[in-house]
Amino acid sequence: MPGTLFIVAAPSGAGKSSLVNALLEREPGIVLSISHTTRPPRPNDKDGVHYHFVKRAEFELLVTQDAFLEHAEVFGNLYGTSRATVAERFAAGNDVLLEIDWQGAQQVRAKLPCVSIFILPPSREELLRRLRSRGSDSEAVIARRTAEARAEMVHCREFDYIIVNDDFATALGELQAIVTAQRLRCHNQLARHEAQIADLLKPD
Ligand code: GDP
Ligand code: ADP
Ligand code: 5GP
Repeated sequence: MPGTLFIVAAPSGAGKSSLVNALLEREPGIVLSISHTTRPPRPNDKDGVHYHFVKRAEFELLVTQDAFLEHAEVFGNLYGTSRATVAERFAAGNDVLLEIDWQGAQQVRAKLPCVSIFILPPSREELLRRLRSRGSDSEAVIARRTAEARAEMVHCREFDYIIVNDDFATALGELQAIVTAQRLRCHNQLARHEAQIADLLKPD
């Protein structure tokens, strides 16, 4: 049974990575697809864990090889989701989660069934405060990410779900509820409990 493809998008600083990491710690059977990017690693970024960090030429070669399910330029850097990574993770029996921007979400939606979730910050002021509190980007990078936040948020209407990340625990509970509801959908439950349901439906 192929799992569900979840997409999570948000303006930078809304808390997307914190929420996704907390979700992955709590929910078995859902894994992140690690993207390729040309962005320089931040001090705490580990190659192969947070991203596959590549040079622009290598990224462009992968594009010509049709290696990406989707790819986009965000804040002047290239980001892409490898087809092979997603396929391997489904083959291992998982649900797969993509942390990607709205452009990538549009591309994936046009190709595959998926469940998409948009994370909003509670206010502009709080978004700026969180970007600064992360302490890993320069003021110039923060200014650019703040300026582009509105351009990302305009696309929130295109998503299946919206979560406002005000109180972290509440937002995390809402994210878990979406994953759980998806797993309980009729077609997923019929596949998961095939033998049991066949037994229940056996003629007397
Ligand atoms: P952060 O999400 O603010 O911590 O910053 P990043 O540099 O990790 O990501 C910047 C933007 O690129 C975010 O909007 C991500 O959702 C997006 N992004 C990350 N990986 C991918 C990808 O594989 N494809 C696309 N299209 N966007 C991505
Ligand atoms: P994103 O991945 O969307 O760019 P992060 O997950 O890196 O965002 O979060 C940005 C900053 O905001 C981090 O320092 C994180 O600890 C903090 N943060 C995330 N969610 C909340 C919340 N609900 N309340 C307060 N701070 C938060
Ligand atoms: P982690 O990667 O440890 O799950 O979370 C990264 C950051 O997310 C933490 O440093 C913290 O700022 C934020 N975070 C995690 N849990 C909570 C929480 O319960 N409440 C709030 N307000 N922030 C949290």
